[in-house]
Amino acid sequence: MNYFSYIDNELYCEEVAIANIAAREGTPFYLYSLKTLKRHYQVFDRAFADVPHLICFSAKANSNIAILKALVMEGAGMDIVSGGELFRAMKAGADPKKIVFSGVGKRQDEIEYALSSGILMFNIESSQELETVNAAAGKMNKKAPIALRVNPDVDAGTHPHISTGMKENKFGIDIAASVSEYRRAKELEHIEIVGIDCHLGSQITEVDPFIHALDRLKKLVATLRRERIEIKYLDLGGGLGIMYDNEDPPHPDEYARAILKKTVDMDCTFILEPGRVIAGNSGVLIAKILYTKEREHKNFVIVDAGMNDLIRPSLYGSYHKILPVTKGENEKKSIIADVVGPICESGDFFAKARRMPPFAPNDLIAVMSAGAYGFTMSSNYNSRPRCAEVLVNGDRYDVIRKREKYEDLVKDENIPDYLHEYRVRES
Ligand SMILES: *Cc1c(COP(=O)(O)O)cnc(C)c1O
Repeated sequence: MNYFSYIDNELYCEEVAIANIAAREGTPFYLYSLKTLKRHYQVFDRAFADVPHLICFSAKANSNIAILKALVMEGAGMDIVSGGELFRAMKAGADPKKIVFSGVGKRQDEIEYALSSGILMFNIESSQELETVNAAAGKMNKKAPIALRVNPDVDAGTHPHISTGMKENKFGIDIAASVSEYRRAKELEHIEIVGIDCHLGSQITEVDPFIHALDRLKKLVATLRRERIEIKYLDLGGGLGIMYDNEDPPHPDEYARAILKKTVDMDCTFILEPGRVIAGNSGVLIAKILYTKEREHKNFVIVDAGMNDLIRPSLYGSYHKILPVTKGENEKKSIIADVVGPICESGDFFAKARRMPPFAPNDLIAVMSAGAYGFTMSSNYNSRPRCAEVLVNGDRYDVIRKREKYEDLVKDENIPDYLHEYRVRES
C-alpha cells in the first residue's frame, strides 16, 4: 500500500503532482511520501501490539533526519550501525533508550559515543568486541548493556550479498559457541547482559527462515536461563521483504503472528529492526530522460540519474518498476529497452530489456520502491553532486536535503603548498 498513484494520467505523490516538483526543483531527486512511511510503520507496530515490543527502524535503509524524525514521532527507536547513524538518530530526537547498536566493526570512539549517549544495548558480534566494550565501559565507570548477536546458520533464501545469518557470513557469533561466550560476558565487570539478537539478512520473502532461526534462539534462551543468564530482550533483527516486482512477501501481520505463536511462553520484550519494509515503498527516484537511442538489436533510454544515485540494480541485479510520470498518447505503444544512466560503467543501469512506452527527451520517469537503500547508498562517483531529497505531506512538499553543488564536491579537498610552487613541466 502506498500513496503514489495516477490522476488523469499524471503521477501524484499524495496530493502533489510529481511533474510540478520536478519543474521547480530539477532532477534527479528522491521523493518520499510521509503518509506511506507512517502507514508502514503503524502497520508493523500494530502487528506486535499484543506483546511488549520496540520497533527500532534500521537507519541505514534511509537516514535522512526528517525521515528519522517522522518515525521518532510515531514512537520508533533506531537500529544504528555507526557513530554517524547515532549522530543522526540523536539529531532526529530519538530516545537513546530506544537505540540498539549493531555491526561487526564498531570502533572504540563509536563505542564510547554510544556509552555516553546511554543507548539501550550493543549487539555484540565477536569476543574481541566484547572485550573492547567492557574496557571502554570500565574507563567510563559504566556498565554496558549488551546482547550477543548469534548467527543461527539459517539460509534466508535471499541474494547472497544481503544474506547475513549463515555460517559463511561475517556476522555474529556461531550459535554453538554462544553459550560459552555468554558465560564469559557474565564474568566481565562492566558488561550487563540484557538480551539476545539475530538478523538473518534482507528482502526475505517467506516466514520460514525467521521461524527456523527462532526455534534455535528459543533453545538457546532456555539454556541461558537455566544458567541464570537473564534474557530480557529478544531482538529478531529486520529483513522482512517488500514487493518490487511480483514477489509475495508475508504481510507484517502474518510475520508477527508466526513469531508470536512460537514465543507465547517466552516472557521477553521483542525488538524488531525493520528497514526496507518501512521505507522501501515510501520513496521513488525521479529522473529525466536525456536521450534515447536505437542500436541494432537494442534500445537505450538514457536518464539523468545514475548508479551513483541508486546502486541496487548494479549491486544486486535488483528489479525496480519504472513508471512514466506523465502518461502520453504513446502509452499504448511499447518498446523494449534498457534504462541506463550517464556513468561510465556498463553496470550503470536501472532496467534491462524492459517493456515500456517509447519515451522522448525531457519525459520524466519514476523508479519505484527506492525509499530504502537508495539515497543512503548514493555516492559522488563520476563527480556527480548527490541529488536532492523531497518529502511530501498531503498537499505540500519540502526539500529535506538540498541537491549538492559543484563546490560541495571539493570543499574538503586541499592542494598541498608544494604543488602550488611547481611550474608546469614543459615536455
Ligand atoms: C540492515 C539491517 C537491518 C534492516 O534490514 P531490512 O532488510 O532493511 O529490514 C536490521 N538489522 C541489522 C543488524 C541490519 O544490518
